[in-house]
Amino acid sequence: MLPHADGAPADGPLIDSYGRIATDLRVSLTDRCNLRCSYCMPADGLDWLADETLLWPDEFIRLIRLAVTRLGVISVRFTGGEPLVAKDLERIIATTAAIRPRPEIALTTNGIGLARRAERLRAAGLDRINVSLDSIDAARFAAITRRDRLPDVLAGLVAAKGAGLEPVKVNAVLDPQTGLQDAVSLLRFCLQHGYQLRIIEQMPLDAEHRWQRGAALTADEVLGALRRHFTLRPHPAPRGSAPAQLWQVDAGPATVGVIASVSDAFCSACDRTRLTADGQIRSCLFATRETDLRSALRGGADDEAIEAAWRGAMWIKPAGHGINDPDFVQPARSMSAIGG
Ligand code: SAM
Repeated sequence: MLPHADGAPADGPLIDSYGRIATDLRVSLTDRCNLRCSYCMPADGLDWLADETLLWPDEFIRLIRLAVTRLGVISVRFTGGEPLVAKDLERIIATTAAIRPRPEIALTTNGIGLARRAERLRAAGLDRINVSLDSIDAARFAAITRRDRLPDVLAGLVAAKGAGLEPVKVNAVLDPQTGLQDAVSLLRFCLQHGYQLRIIEQMPLDAEHRWQRGAALTADEVLGALRRHFTLRPHPAPRGSAPAQLWQVDAGPATVGVIASVSDAFCSACDRTRLTADGQIRSCLFATRETDLRSALRGGADDEAIEAAWRGAMWIKPAGHGINDPDFVQPARSMSAIGG
């Protein structure tokens, strides 16, 4: 029997028991990655998910189609691990782009290999891209990611812009020691190249459980450091369900976004539902329960049964991520295995 929470509506939008509606699907296409960011995974990598547990491209496509056509999902973001190392990415994007109503399609990537593929991804139907980049200093980049690949990421950014994947967004998670300096130089770099910087507070989702509340930089600390070099004014546009608080830089129109996932959580506006590379639905990054759609798919479940299981999984979404609660428990999966 597929799990099904009592009370989940049988149709309509993908709603949870607190009334939030999930319209944004995050799909982790693989847990593997070619970087080893210290706040995410150990230097030697992780025990990757076993091949036979990973969804096949056609299984991802079936679930994405079902989410769009039966559950009201309107945007799909591919992530990982590193989605550029996943099988058949362009085909999955092209098939997603053919679904009606057509969802908006976005990708979160570390940018390695993007220089070669940006045009193809755009042609397949990719609408938007976020490239992760935590420092534009080559030595610091290598120290954070444990790989000397800054030039590849910079080339990927140029190619993304050239392919028209605009606005190109840069996601940065700051190092507790050097991050305030990195934030300033990243913002200068993004202003110069026309990229939109998003700074994300580091969350307790590292595989080694080294995250420490007092050590990670907060949004306020980052804004304080940026204000010593730039004038920041709150952006007038309503924030809606966007995780980033947007600031206009100097006279504008350039902006910088700060995502205060820990110090000022935005769970009450969360509109996400997550599918892991091994076919589990997670209602929250920090969920400790998952709903196994892979077994359902492979056991021959029809679309009605899978839809009911997905609805049940979201119905029990917790009110908040609980990071700041005294009894907070870090989820067993780390960010790379959930899909950031
Ligand atoms: N490999 C792709 C990339 O680098 O963008 C996609 C997956 S990665 C897990 C997605 C995003 O999650 C990246 O921007 C990464 O910096 C961020 N991330 C990873 N671990 C994190 C953590 N502990 N706290 C906050 N963000 C994290």
